[in-house]
Order: sequence, then C-alpha cells, then structure tokens
Amino acid sequence: MSYVLTPLPIPTVPVADGVGMFPVHRIYCVGRNYAEHAKEMGFSDREPPFFFMKPADAVVPVAPGTTVELRYPLPTTNLHHEIELVIAIGRAGRNIKAANAQAYVYGYAVGLDMTRRDQQFAMRDKGRPWEIGKAFDQSAPIGPIHPASRTGELSTAAITLKVNGEVRQSSDISQLIWNVHETIEHLSSYFELQPGDLIYTGTPAGVGAVKPGDLMEGAIAGLGDLKVKIIDGQR
Ligand code: MN
Repeated sequence: MSYVLTPLPIPTVPVADGVGMFPVHRIYCVGRNYAEHAKEMGFSDREPPFFFMKPADAVVPVAPGTTVELRYPLPTTNLHHEIELVIAIGRAGRNIKAANAQAYVYGYAVGLDMTRRDQQFAMRDKGRPWEIGKAFDQSAPIGPIHPASRTGELSTAAITLKVNGEVRQSSDISQLIWNVHETIEHLSSYFELQPGDLIYTGTPAGVGAVKPGDLMEGAIAGLGDLKVKIIDGQR
C-alpha cells in the first residue's frame, strides 16, 4: 500500500565534522535540573526529575559559524531562552541503570529549550499540560552532535548563554541535579529509549526574555557554540 499523503522528511541534526545526519525520534526535556534555576522558578527541595516533550520537528539545526533566524512565536509576550546540554541517544533500552547509561549515549550537543513562559505559567497554574508553552514550532534549536566516542564522557563543562553580547546564563554541567547517567536511568524507567532520541537536560539559572532583534549565543565547552537571532514573527 502506498501513502495517501507524501510523508514529511524525518527531522535530522548534523553530526559534527560531516560524519552524517542524526535522525531525530523524540525530544525529551528535563524540568528544573539545576538548583539555582529551580530557586528562580520558586522551588527549593530536591525532587525526582520530571520530564516533558517537544515534537521531533521542533529541532532547528544550527551549523557552526552560522546564525539561524528564529521567528518570534505567537502568541506570547514573554519568550524565554534556556540554554541546555542535549544528550543524543544511540541505542534502544529501558530500565537502564546509571552505571550502564554511557553505552546508550551517541553524543552531546548544545541546545536551546525556547519557552513561551507566559503560556507555560498560565497552564501550570491551571494544572494543565505545558505543550503550548514548550512544544511549539522551532522551539528546539540545536548545534551539531558531537559523538561521545570523540568527546569522552561529559560530566564537567562550562555552559553559557549571551544575549547581545551580555552573559545571561553561566554555569557548569557538573551542577546538574540529575547528571547525564541518572537522567537516562529515570527517563528509561518511564519510556523505552530509542536511537534518535534527544534529551534536553535542563537549564541553569538566568533565564530571561528575548525579543525580535536579539542575538543569542550559547556555548558548552567542547561542543562549540550556537547562534540564534530572533526576528519578527509577523514576517
Ligand atoms: Mn528547559
């Protein structure tokens, strides 16, 4: 049987240095995974990690040395940046123990979990799902994936985000409340991970609003940088 519609292309993210394309299966995100960010969101207790998702086609690949333009998404008046370490999963698995988790890591990337904060909080306050605040089109810019076979295990690396040259977020991935391996253990207890899954691991403190004309420059040491400019959503 043939398709009744032309299937859309599989979303992909380039692997660094022209190795090939990483086909995206799902995008998982971790909420409040740095203590200082949890505090700025109004929470102080350590709690098990929690997860939400974005659609796979929310990825916006950003090639090194280039600046991608992102349309200001409507409707929001409070679009926030969240710079994050992204884990790229290379093998299927469920109920993975942290001690075995590295074998499931294909690589790492720097990503932005763009957030319509006003919509997220409105839904949160009503006890409704976060989708319209988190899972919108183009909400997951991402740099090239760096294979773990080259970077080694990533447990310490500076993570920063500048807006128009000014540092807004600055931390280290060693400050993650739930590290890469622990995150995989928790997530794989709820979902069978598949090759092609991406996990946005959470953002450090300093989230804030961006507006059309603003240039965001994110970086994680060893994973390169990520440049995204916000343009008018009406265009
Ligand atoms: Mn986030």
